[in-house]
Amino acid sequence: MADVRLVFLGAPGSGKGTQAARVSEGLGVPAISTGEMLRDAVAAGSELGERVEQIMAAGALVDDATMAEVIRGRLAQDDTKNGFLLDGYPRTIGQVAILEQILGELGATLTAVVLIDVREEELVRRALERRRDDDTEEVIRTRLDVYREKTEPLVEYYRTKGLLREVDGNESIEEVTAALMGVLPVSA
Ligand code: AMP
Repeated sequence: MADVRLVFLGAPGSGKGTQAARVSEGLGVPAISTGEMLRDAVAAGSELGERVEQIMAAGALVDDATMAEVIRGRLAQDDTKNGFLLDGYPRTIGQVAILEQILGELGATLTAVVLIDVREEELVRRALERRRDDDTEEVIRTRLDVYREKTEPLVEYYRTKGLLREVDGNESIEEVTAALMGVLPVSA
C-alpha cells in the first residue's frame, strides 16, 4: 500500500472528485471529500448539517473553524494511517495553516498537491451539462467566483513549496487519470 498524502485542487467542474476517487482506488488510500461529508451531515440532519445547509446551498464556504473540526476528526481515523487523498480541503489559506498543524501533530507531511487544470469555457460547459435541480446559474457562478478568490491562491502557495503537480484536465476521464498517475511521486 502506498504511503502517500495528497491534496487535489481544481475548480468546480474540473473533475477533481471523480479523479480523486479513481486515484484513491489505484493507490489503495482513502479519498476524503469534505463536500461529501457535509452532504452526509445535512442528509442525517445532524447539528453540523443544520449549521452548514444554507451555506452550501448558496455555494459559499463553510467557516474555517467548523471545517477544522471536520477534517481533524476524519484524519484521526485509522484508515488514514498509510495515507489519504484530500478532495475539497484545504480551500482557503487559513485551512492550509490548519492542515499543516494537524499533519505536524500526526508527524506527517504532504507528498504532493495536484492541480487539475481546466479551461474556463470547458468548466462552464460541464457545469451546465451536469447541473443539479437546486443549482441555479447564480450558485454555479458563486462557486466559481469563490474558487478564484479563496482557493486559487493555494496554487501559488504550493508551487512555491515545490509540492505542486499539474495535469491537463480538459481530456477524457481515463486520460486525466493516466496523466495523474504519471505525475505522482509514487506508484500504485
Ligand atoms: P464540494 O463537493 O467539494 O464542491 O463541496 C460542496 C460544498 O461544501 C462547498 O460548496 C462548500 O459549501 C462546502 N465545503 C466543502 N469543503 C469545504 C471546505 N474545505 N471549506 C469550506 N466549505 C467547504
